[in-house]
Amino acid sequence: MKRFKERDGFKKHILIVDDEFVNREILGNIFNGLYDVTYAEDGEQAMEILREKPYDFALMLLDLLMPKMDGFTVIKYCKEDELLKRIPIIVMTSEKSAEIESIRLGAIDFITKPYDMPEVILARVERIIEFAEDKNIIQATEKDSLTGLYTKEYFLRYISQIEKYAPGTKMDAVVLNIDHFHLINEIYGRDFGDEILVLVANELQDMIENMHGGLASRVNADTFYVYLEHKDIYGHNVLEKINRQIYERTGTQNIRVRLGVYPDVDKAVQPEMWYDRAVIACNRIREDYTRNVAYYDKKLYDRAIYEEKLIRDFYTAVTEKQLMVYFQPKFNITGDRPRLSSAEALIRWKHPELGMISPGDFVPLFEGNGLIQKLDNYVWEEAARQIRLWKDKYNVTIPVSVNVSRIDIYDPKLFDKLTNLVEKYGLTTNEYMLEITESAYSENVNELIDVVNKLREKGFKIELDDFGSGYSSLNMLTTLPIDVLKMDMKFIRNMLTDYKNLKLVEIILDIARLLKVPVIAEGVEEENQYKTLKDRGCDVIQGYYFSKPLPASEFNLLIEKDLEEQ
Ligand code: C2E
Ligand code: MG
Ligand code: MG
Repeated sequence: MKRFKERDGFKKHILIVDDEFVNREILGNIFNGLYDVTYAEDGEQAMEILREKPYDFALMLLDLLMPKMDGFTVIKYCKEDELLKRIPIIVMTSEKSAEIESIRLGAIDFITKPYDMPEVILARVERIIEFAEDKNIIQATEKDSLTGLYTKEYFLRYISQIEKYAPGTKMDAVVLNIDHFHLINEIYGRDFGDEILVLVANELQDMIENMHGGLASRVNADTFYVYLEHKDIYGHNVLEKINRQIYERTGTQNIRVRLGVYPDVDKAVQPEMWYDRAVIACNRIREDYTRNVAYYDKKLYDRAIYEEKLIRDFYTAVTEKQLMVYFQPKFNITGDRPRLSSAEALIRWKHPELGMISPGDFVPLFEGNGLIQKLDNYVWEEAARQIRLWKDKYNVTIPVSVNVSRIDIYDPKLFDKLTNLVEKYGLTTNEYMLEITESAYSENVNELIDVVNKLREKGFKIELDDFGSGYSSLNMLTTLPIDVLKMDMKFIRNMLTDYKNLKLVEIILDIARLLKVPVIAEGVEEENQYKTLKDRGCDVIQGYYFSKPLPASEFNLLIEKDLEEQ
């Protein structure tokens, strides 16, 4: 029996919920010394305690009739909650009908009042905890069989117990991740991958033992959580040791271990949140090989809060029309004078509290969580609607290009969405252009090429955005299906001050001639830049020199001006 009452020195934790002091006392005495006991005086208090520490409790003893919130409601709430539903509930009652009702709701057993047989109660509680844990073991065992570390669920449950034994101690939450771990498995085989995981686990165990104790867990394939007493500087020794061993075995520096540390955790928030923060820190150095350790600090915290806010506010932004599509004109400069030729649709977010937010702040964020598709679908529709409006108002066609995020490419409905849009607004596909950033082409080339080919067959024009920003090889260029090359802004910015950049601009123009596609120069701000590009045969210009992105109403003036000058 000892196994289930006490494991590794940890007592199981029971929650007793009863509004009557006497009942709480009697039960408390029965469990005294064998279990840790927390008391709640009504359902509301019980829910509060449970939600604060969902992993903490092995069992709940629940009275049914209580003020504020009764036991039935508590059972209902617990059964609806992913984290709480695993906690077995024993109801305490003297009414037969209530017993049936509570069992029907999901209580596991009942104990009748008055409590005159303590041994029976104890035995039942033990058996039920044992039973529930065995059941949970199907989903989650306590220890990871490969490394012997705790599994995530048990780890989170036990760290709240540490707090009880050493209250007030400053603690750190640490996440360890192995870069490119899948490569180890793929190149060196699973056995070798396992060997590396065990090596990391052993080092973490040592690290904990060298400190005053703590806990370590493997939470998934190559991610480890550690909870230990606060240290000012982190684990260079440990990391170096691990990284050296990996290097010795693999001969590559690509596979390394990095740490994200959330120091001196805020115990007022839930442990999961500590590790979310440590993970944020850890992810910040994913591509940064100059650092192996990152600390979660105020800046990261503020950024995370800001990002959370943007994500939360996105839906209201859509319904309350805070998102606006601006249009930046593109001018054809091949003739005697620049002519308005087309436009790019660019999203703007006018946030009621934060003011104007740049797409650079939220587009990459939304690409990470799927919201980008909603955003882009909205922009695409606005763009189509606007082309229609201009046609109707001025009897001219201003083709508009929209940005297609690399995430959109994997949307199986992409083709249908775009074709439906042009149909809905009575447009032809060559009035509607798609900007795909160069970096998207480097990710999953074959899939992307298939999608793009299909769109081009339908008549859509594809612009390769941000060309030269770093990814495509010259070789790739000849196989890419594109209609327009959009030169990255950085060349233009430095073109007149740095000869090498001017040379690159000329090379890009040559490449475009070879591919027989026109070139758009983005970010043209000065007359000299414009002239230089014109002299060298650039076709189209987009930039502040002509105009910033504008709301449609102001864009109208440009159309009117261009029509007048005809
Ligand atoms: P992009 O597609 O390369 O768009 C061009 C960016 O350059 C725009 O920034 C535009 O305002 C800016 N720009 C244009 N001319 C000049 C200039 O002369 N000087 C300077 N300094 N900047 C100029 P914006 O609107 O802030 O957008 C930034 C990026 O955000 C875009 O780069 C695009 O990648 C993304 N983005 C914007 N709107 C959307 C959208 O609706 N969907 C998606 N997926 N991405 C979008
Ligand atoms: Mg663009
Ligand atoms: Mg661009």
